[in-house]
Amino acid sequence: MSLDVQHTSETDGTVHDHLAHNYHPLPVVLASGEGAWVRDTDGREYLDLLSGYSALNFGHRHPHLVAAAHAQLDRLTLTSRAFDHDLLAPFATRLARLLEPLLAAPDGVLVLPMNTGAEAVETVVKTARKWGYEVKGVPDGQATIVVAADNFHGRTTTIVSFSTDDDARSGFGPFAPGFRVVPYGDAAALAAAIDETTVAVLLEPVQGEAGVIVPPEGYLATVRALCDEHDVLFVADEIQSGLGRTGATLACERAGVKPDLVTLGKALGGGVVPVSAVVGRRDVLAVLTPGTHGSTFGGNPLACAVALAVVDLLETGEHQARARELGEHLEHRLVAMVEEGLLVGYRVAGLWAGVDVDPARGTGREVSERLLERRVLVKDTHGQTVRIAPPLVVSLEDLDWALDQLADALR
Ligand code: PLP
Repeated sequence: MSLDVQHTSETDGTVHDHLAHNYHPLPVVLASGEGAWVRDTDGREYLDLLSGYSALNFGHRHPHLVAAAHAQLDRLTLTSRAFDHDLLAPFATRLARLLEPLLAAPDGVLVLPMNTGAEAVETVVKTARKWGYEVKGVPDGQATIVVAADNFHGRTTTIVSFSTDDDARSGFGPFAPGFRVVPYGDAAALAAAIDETTVAVLLEPVQGEAGVIVPPEGYLATVRALCDEHDVLFVADEIQSGLGRTGATLACERAGVKPDLVTLGKALGGGVVPVSAVVGRRDVLAVLTPGTHGSTFGGNPLACAVALAVVDLLETGEHQARARELGEHLEHRLVAMVEEGLLVGYRVAGLWAGVDVDPARGTGREVSERLLERRVLVKDTHGQTVRIAPPLVVSLEDLDWALDQLADALR
């Protein structure tokens, strides 16, 4: 059966009468994409320097990922967790093998699949609390989790309860208790916030939404040591920083630190389907028993097929190496832009940068709009910052061209 879809002015993607206004996108309507490039409905091509907030680390429609999805669509798409399926154990095993050496898990790791990043974060919050009550011996209902100011961990009511971003929080109370917020990068403040009720420290090893904020040298190692000292779980939210972006499989790996638990999302689904997971200490995740947590779509066959193909790509180390090499080049170019007075600052971690625009040269939004005119897609964050996160498959020539456009847009 074929459905002949009629596109009218209301359905061609340009009229937004019926869409809720929870986003302020740039004025472009995309219709197709391949690798680092996308095309709009008029056929104009743009280089994508946002990569779906790092969900598209492997580029648009990576052939290996698309082939895995196609093959699975022809076989089995959903079982729910009421029944097992033949890719669930392979997915968990392959992801566990990839990450086990990077985690503080001498007794091995378990994998808990979910769908979105926020769900993975909710999962670690629940897991850490239950572990706190059942294993650490925290009195029921008193568990605390230490988090960092300027964090971004998602949009659920529990997660926005510990956000410090007014836009994310305001109007959404009452808020969930049990979180202590300390300045990011301040180990002394973190140490002071830990007490006998503390079950976990939850941090982004590089803060993405905050503008690619890299913590001071040694900070993550100190967090690890404090967690060990106080029998507290170190939970790294690697949903944006993980899976190649910083030049390593995990950003924590780059800092030489092993967390107890990690949250993964975005690139785990290769930009094809939403896939997230919590991976970490077997003894900790084992506190979740049948009926305590779950999701209809978590670990579905299509998600597992794509995520297994993502693991294939990560196992070669090729994308991590590209992120390191191209990231070095990116940094050289950004240094030159600071020297020329085009930028007032930048931070870089692998192929990922936050650049601060001099207000005299416009806002982050204005620079993003100027870049759109020059066929480069970026997105501002927090007023003056623009994030640069090309797909890791971008060519050096294309990256250079896009950075030329950035420099010109700033001039
Ligand atoms: N955690 C981090 C570090 C993120 O950057 C994000 C999304 O940007 C999330 C969690 C939430 O992921 P999702 O939008 O898939 O719920």
